[in-house]
Amino acid sequence: MKIAVVVPVFNEQENLRELYRRLRGVFEKLQDITWQVVYVNDGSNDSSIEIMLEQCREDPRFSVIDLSRNFGHQAAISAGLAHASADAVILMDADLQDPPQIIPELVEHWRQGAEVVRAERRTRKEKGLRRLGFETFHRVFTWISDFPIPSQSGIFGLLDIKAVQELNRLPEKNRYLPGLRSWVGFRQEVIYYDREDRAAGEPKQTLRRLIRYALDAIFSFSYKPLRLMTGIGACISIGGFVLACVFVVKRLWGIETAQTGFTTLITMILFLGGVQLVAIGLVGEYMARIYDEVKQRPLYIVSKLYGIEPPNRSGSAPSSCSAPRKNQSGTAASA
Ligand code: UDP
Ligand code: MG
Repeated sequence: MKIAVVVPVFNEQENLRELYRRLRGVFEKLQDITWQVVYVNDGSNDSSIEIMLEQCREDPRFSVIDLSRNFGHQAAISAGLAHASADAVILMDADLQDPPQIIPELVEHWRQGAEVVRAERRTRKEKGLRRLGFETFHRVFTWISDFPIPSQSGIFGLLDIKAVQELNRLPEKNRYLPGLRSWVGFRQEVIYYDREDRAAGEPKQTLRRLIRYALDAIFSFSYKPLRLMTGIGACISIGGFVLACVFVVKRLWGIETAQTGFTTLITMILFLGGVQLVAIGLVGEYMARIYDEVKQRPLYIVSKLYGIEPPNRSGSAPSSCSAPRKNQSGTAASA
């Protein structure tokens, strides 16, 4: 049995050595398992790549997919999923917020037949605006998603190769992996853990990125915003129609209609204008995502592979951890 651990990395020089030590420690206890770590270097500009290559030279079970620039967390994971060749893949962040000591539990559930094992946060340590953002998103998302997606789990977890292959077949560009993982189905199980704060360094997912990620999640898994706008539009139209009827009848019966003032008029115009702009904005959000799909750009571009082969060449000898390889672009669909 072979397990690949996919770790997206963006400027994690402070955490990589500790991660290396802890991953090796955990797998030492799982004697009957062959394992591989696939780092995906997502355009780091600190010394992360040097540290990863150092580890790759020291232990050939560590390999690196070096992307040509920073493509974002979800694209980096997709690159890792497309290249990992194993019976199961574990996805985890590099900042030790996803504790490696949970791995044996994930593997145990998989051995007992689970095909997707999600690690769900019982508690989390983030504070302030970030925590408020996470909590609001999870509440809104649970309500809004058209498809039941557990809101307390991120990417951390294990995927059987069957689930990985199905995820690799999904061609969509705006990816929300926790949602897609629920969507692919199979036998899913959950384990619980307490989420620590990141071990060192600042969060690499900026607030702006997290908002974009949350919007991707909502617009990929829900038509409710559109339906909500249709509902609001319908209510306003019915209200307007009833008012118009009242005014016409009053006029016909010769009842003096009260003169509506400037304030009422301007309030109504501004309110309706606002609602219309929000509605157009919402349609635009969906349209921009359709445009992303139509453009068919790859999710990421691989600059070099170290200690790992391209997805369609599995079985051949892995490339060296020091020799650069020639460019190769990839999409989740091509894997
Ligand atoms: N990451 C990445 N590309 C990015 C941003 C982050 O590969 O553009 C990696 C990062 O190195 C870490 C993981 O994704 O391993 C999660 O990032 P972070 O801890 O900043 O996110 P959070 O825990 O706040 O969701
Ligand atoms: Mg983190």
